[in-house]
Amino acid sequence: MAARTLRIGLIPGDGIGKEVIPAGRRILEALPASLGLKFEFIKLRAGFETFEQTGAALPDETVAILKSDCDGALFGAVSSPSTAVKGYSSPIVALRKKLDLYANVRPVKSVGGAANPIDMVIVRENTEDLYVKEEKTYDTPEGKVAEAIKRISQRASSRIATMAGEIALRRQKIRSAGSPSIHTSPLVTITHKSNVLSQTDGLFRSTAREALSAGRFTSVAVEEQIVDSMVYKLFRQPEAYDVIVAPNLYGDILSDGAAALVGSLGLVPSANVGEGFAIGEPCHGSAPDIMGQNIANPIATLRSAALMLEFLNEEEAAARIYAAVDANLEEGKLLSPDLGGKATTTEVLEDILRRL
Ligand code: ATP
Ligand code: MG
Repeated sequence: MAARTLRIGLIPGDGIGKEVIPAGRRILEALPASLGLKFEFIKLRAGFETFEQTGAALPDETVAILKSDCDGALFGAVSSPSTAVKGYSSPIVALRKKLDLYANVRPVKSVGGAANPIDMVIVRENTEDLYVKEEKTYDTPEGKVAEAIKRISQRASSRIATMAGEIALRRQKIRSAGSPSIHTSPLVTITHKSNVLSQTDGLFRSTAREALSAGRFTSVAVEEQIVDSMVYKLFRQPEAYDVIVAPNLYGDILSDGAAALVGSLGLVPSANVGEGFAIGEPCHGSAPDIMGQNIANPIATLRSAALMLEFLNEEEAAARIYAAVDANLEEGKLLSPDLGGKATTTEVLEDILRRL
């Protein structure tokens, strides 16, 4: 079988992004040759440091190379200055727009043997809702009033729900292949607040329902949950969820809440996904408090690399990475300080590479 070559953009960004992205590269390079995968890496710039050096947080060159030369990418983290800096805005937000990466996908999984086992994926719509950032402030006799547009479209709701359905099917396929899980059949939970926002969230709800009623999703159970009760249940009974699909704002909040359930931001991966393109990105930020000490947990990035591979249809390679990471966590001997251990970034990585 001819080897498939994947060209992967590497965007370390700022802070611990510079320490964890090289770990992501190492694990891809260490995948066994029998998988028939080869990698070419292209180093790309973005972030606050890039902004200070070049005047652009996301240089045009980075976007152009991602579009024309890459199959996927790994993105580290970018610092967000605590006070607004003129001309600076988040490069990952811009990148999602420019590449139409309409889904933000976050798997949240507990380590084997946890008291409350969790194995869910949150699929967050990434292009609209309140995050269209159309805000205005005006004066009235009673003082200032500020307003924001919440935009929900049929197109965006339909494609995000379809992706959630596909992910549910893929997870079921992986389970059928023998991968251990707390779930036995695929379930998608549609999250909304249509009892209050009958038009916007109402459209999300009905569109998602319709998309998930397509013939190929007959094996996928579909349920709905109002977002506030969802938060309650997410904390009380997290094992009940398989795939959650949500509009942008609720998805943002739910995914950070879910990350808290498994203990450390250093464990949780994400992917920004569009048509035929995926950027793996650890959920954590640039963590300036621990940068430069070689103690950042690389696992969120290793899992993000695996998640990127899943969306590039390399499920087996992804499964190898997940299994090596799980084995490290289950043994629990070489853990980074955020998990109560003493191991360095390098030691955690070496242990996982050995298990690969
Ligand atoms: P940013 O503005 O870039 O988001 P932040 O100060 O909010 O930076 P985060 O990266 O969001 O920092 O991290 C929040 C906390 O979690 C910090 O205390 C950080 O040290 C810790 N943390 C984040 N990522 C990791 C990691 N990979 N390993 C260990 N600890 C981490
Ligand atoms: Mg942060």
